[in-house]
Amino acid sequence: MSMTFSGQVALVTGAANGIGRATAQAFAAEGLKVVVADLDVAAGEDTVALIRAAGGEALFVPCNVTLEADVQNLMARTIEAYGRLDYAFNNAGIEIEQGRLAEGSLDEFDAIMGVNVKGVWLCMKYQLPLLLAQGAGAIVNTASVAGLGAAPKMSIYAASKHAVIGLTKSAAIEYAKKRIRVNAVCPAVIDTDMFRRAYEADPKKAEFAAAMHPVGRIGKVEEVASAVLYLCCDGAAFTTGHALTVDGGATAI
Ligand code: NAD
Repeated sequence: MSMTFSGQVALVTGAANGIGRATAQAFAAEGLKVVVADLDVAAGEDTVALIRAAGGEALFVPCNVTLEADVQNLMARTIEAYGRLDYAFNNAGIEIEQGRLAEGSLDEFDAIMGVNVKGVWLCMKYQLPLLLAQGAGAIVNTASVAGLGAAPKMSIYAASKHAVIGLTKSAAIEYAKKRIRVNAVCPAVIDTDMFRRAYEADPKKAEFAAAMHPVGRIGKVEEVASAVLYLCCDGAAFTTGHALTVDGGATAI
């Protein structure tokens, strides 16, 4: 099945690295114009350069998704540059290993909830009016398998990703009749900087990570990108309010 897109413009947060960059590249390869949003200006510009070198169209907009003014500016710049917004991938997120629940700090709680929950909520808050005005669109949010079950020593992260699924499902129902679909992706361990920071120092952890997945390896960023594109494409018109695992079978055990 080839994926077809009626829309023309996609926005990706956290697009300077990892899953976000791969998804921005995948949207561009399908011929969409892509707005690349991130805190990390240098790596965000690199994502745009990679897309342009491959013949695609992209624009970088610096954005801290926890700041309302930045998110409003992101949507304004999108409309100014490309005149519309069809697909949004709200993917910026942070992961901090906090130890057991009683060992976590208030600063860690506020930081994780700020990016992973407030950031996704703020982005949807300012994307939905644009999609409503057009009468169609799709949003995908990055949750995690930690949004579907326990994540020992990462309870705040797990709570934040459960919240992303709550926001996703509620918005999906609220806007279902408006031809706006809202879904989430739930990756297990994916080979990104986030993964390497957590596991590279300890090879035993990397082996453990591979073994967690019935397929016997961790995932690739492209494998999450293709799930996001599927959830946005015309073929997924009857899919909304879904949290799609991209986990090598990890949650099927
Ligand atoms: P990454 O660290 O490689 O990329 C995350 C990007 O988000 C970075 O470019 C970073 O600069 C950006 N970012 C962080 N805070 C931001 C903010 N306040 N405003 C704007 N941008 C911000 O990580 P990744 O693995 O590609 O993670 C992407 C998403 O996938 C996250 O939501 C993460 O929780 C989720 N996820 C990752 C894995 C994994 O194993 N890598 C598994 C499940 C879910």
